[in-house]
Amino acid sequence: MTRKVLVCPVCNSTDVELDTGGVSGKYYCKNCGYIGSYVMEMTEGEYEEMLKMEEMKKEHDESK
Ligand SMILES: [Zn+2]
Repeated sequence: MTRKVLVCPVCNSTDVELDTGGVSGKYYCKNCGYIGSYVMEMTEGEYEEMLKMEEMKKEHDESK
């Protein structure tokens, strides 16, 4: 079974949980304080891939 993770669209943290027990239907990011109904849901493998892509982008930007 593949574990799914919730990912904050603002800071890419997985420290995301349903706000106030899911009453509002919104998600809360403990890392940056983002609250919203949209978060990314992906498998851990996809998340690793995404982090790798972000790293590559960063390195590319710094080399400018
Ligand atoms: Zn966040």
